Amino acid sequence: MSKTQMPEPSHKQQRQGSHVSAPPDQDYERTHFGFESVSGVEKRQRVMGVFSSVAGKYDLMNDLMSGGMHRLWKRRLFDVAAVRPDGRVLDVAAGSGDIAIGLLRKMDAQSDGKSSRVVLTDLNGPMLAEGAQRVIDAGLLPGRADCIQSDGTRLAFADNSFDVVSIAFGIRNFVDVEAGLAEFYRVLKPGGQFICLEFSQPVLPLLDVIYDTYSFNVIPPLGAWVTGDRDSYQYLVESIRRFPDQKRFNKLIEWAGFELVRYENMTGGVVALHRGYKIT
Ligand code: SAM
Repeated sequence: MSKTQMPEPSHKQQRQGSHVSAPPDQDYERTHFGFESVSGVEKRQRVMGVFSSVAGKYDLMNDLMSGGMHRLWKRRLFDVAAVRPDGRVLDVAAGSGDIAIGLLRKMDAQSDGKSSRVVLTDLNGPMLAEGAQRVIDAGLLPGRADCIQSDGTRLAFADNSFDVVSIAFGIRNFVDVEAGLAEFYRVLKPGGQFICLEFSQPVLPLLDVIYDTYSFNVIPPLGAWVTGDRDSYQYLVESIRRFPDQKRFNKLIEWAGFELVRYENMTGGVVALHRGYKIT
């Protein structure tokens, strides 16, 4: 979805239940893959290609690109996550599992019973395999975490089944962001919390210039050097530029039906942490 196609928020009755995601083989209206205009089908295939290509080096690149900052951004998500000791959490676009593992650890710290469960879901098999290995290494499989491959715009879960739905640095890659948000709303229980970390737009003077220079001149060559895949990291920086800024994305979350929606900027707006609730 392009920025120019963002719908105007309307009242709740119009929003809820109004999102019907197209099947994966249906060609969506034209969308963007980074700065390129492509069909929805092409975007989905190319996003799959990006993450299949980088899966093995994904965690290393995260640390190198962000200088370890992604750990602090994720820590803040853990801080605000409204998890309960016996709760069920869905981490969408789970990738290599940082969020799922962190949320399980937080729930474990609240109780000795260890009855909480997390589901990791991701479109991409190789990324989810990285996540599964990380959860095994953390001693959380079997029993505490399930890994299920599914598209975030067509989740393979029943209505009203999770207390918290999280997504970190994933929704930017969706062909249909609104369909994803509608799915998150659908699978949350009433009272449930949606939390989302995503790259956003710097709000501090000069930071945008410094950040752009760094993003476009350092990240793709670094990606080429570490993973042998420059194009995937070119896509990464372009996709960040194309994604709605924090205010526009907040409106999309409201439009999906969430209430008490808010965001906080981190690192001067390089990243924003969004949250909202399904009240009824
Ligand atoms: N959440 C992890 C983290 O914060 O480290 C991984 C983020 S990684 C940048 C983005 C992830 O989104 C990839 O694992 C990719 O396969 C997944 N993804 C992309 N499109 C998706 C979709 N439509 N449905 C579910 N996952 C998707």
